Amino acid sequence: MKNNAGAPRTRAGLYLFDRPLKRRPSPLRLVLLGATGSIGLQTLDVVRSHPDKLKVVGLSCRTQVDAMGRILDELHALQPEITPLVAVTEPAARDRLAGRPDLPCRLLAGEPGLLPTLVREASAHCLVNGLVGAVGLEPTLAAADLGLRIALANKETLVMGGDLVAAAVAAGGAEVLPVDSEHAAIAQCLTGRPAHEVGRLILTASGGPFRTLPAEDLAHVSVQQVLDHPTWKMGPKITVDSATLMNKGLEVIEAHHLFGVAYDRIDVVVHPGSIVHSLVEFVDGAVLAQLGTPDMRVPLQYAISGQAHWPLGTDRLDLIGGPDLHFEAPDTDRFPCLALARSAGAAGGAAPVVLNAANEVAVAALLAGRIGFTDIGAAVAETLARGPQGPVPDLESVLEADRLARDLAAEIIAGLAR
Ligand code: MG
Repeated sequence: MKNNAGAPRTRAGLYLFDRPLKRRPSPLRLVLLGATGSIGLQTLDVVRSHPDKLKVVGLSCRTQVDAMGRILDELHALQPEITPLVAVTEPAARDRLAGRPDLPCRLLAGEPGLLPTLVREASAHCLVNGLVGAVGLEPTLAAADLGLRIALANKETLVMGGDLVAAAVAAGGAEVLPVDSEHAAIAQCLTGRPAHEVGRLILTASGGPFRTLPAEDLAHVSVQQVLDHPTWKMGPKITVDSATLMNKGLEVIEAHHLFGVAYDRIDVVVHPGSIVHSLVEFVDGAVLAQLGTPDMRVPLQYAISGQAHWPLGTDRLDLIGGPDLHFEAPDTDRFPCLALARSAGAAGGAAPVVLNAANEVAVAALLAGRIGFTDIGAAVAETLARGPQGPVPDLESVLEADRLARDLAAEIIAGLAR
């Protein structure tokens, strides 16, 4: 057990676990970004379970306007009094939705800044950010300025701009509630406790589909094998990140920003069963954990509801049936992305921005079949070594570091491409 006497255990994080949340109106008006993705569809399932408590007043998607059309028709039946505001970020897809005047929605026009505009104009109480990647940062900042409840599934927001979000949240009176299952678990363990009682956070990782695969075989796995996650059903980007353990690295950075705990007090353990969603060790050695069958609707609803346990039709944990409660240490030799993320987070400034940008470019290259699985870690490491460094005090400098890192990563990946 680590014991850094004198080092600060915690600073103020984004998630203020030692005080009650603000009361918000009921029904709660939601703006849902990434409505047609995995988080979006599961959010709509939560809304379907509680139509009296939750109303959807704004939605976004990128290209899947047919799915958006089905969602709008269902919402119209569920909440006929509301005509949601809709943003479609890909122009050709937006034109297709504009050609459907029968749909019960108001379509936002104009670029850039479509998603922050949607957040500002939807008259919502709560943002559910189910976007994937760096595109999630600016709408989160818009919601923070407005003082909204922010149910945050977009971890890249905090990896890139954790300090910016913290400043905006402090100024605007917003509240950030984690949707990531590990962070939602930690939030449940921490709620009501003073910060000085927190010893360390222990994030669990499923270990992904290649947990037991020998190092020499990792270079030759197929994209389909990468996408075949053993326990969680998620979108393609996060599924790749789970296989490389980059997801857990991003989550270490996310936990640091959310809970204000120093990096050397955030541990990762591999837990293939995905039953224990994460743990908190207190300064007296007491450990609290949150358990349950893997179902993203639970952390989603807990965040949206403002830390309430509303009824939900989930599979129940069968303790007598012998759930997998096995734990092991992560292998950072076979999965270097976890250590890369931890050191980029601790370095701060541009380093986590570069890490995230390089990873997004590398994951896209893997999904397109242009590089192999082990090339992801190599590309991220080289981009970190050669990319921008130093402080990123404002949004412009974050976005500039992101852009430079993407260009560099693309160049490095072109050299690796098979
Ligand atoms: Mg997670």
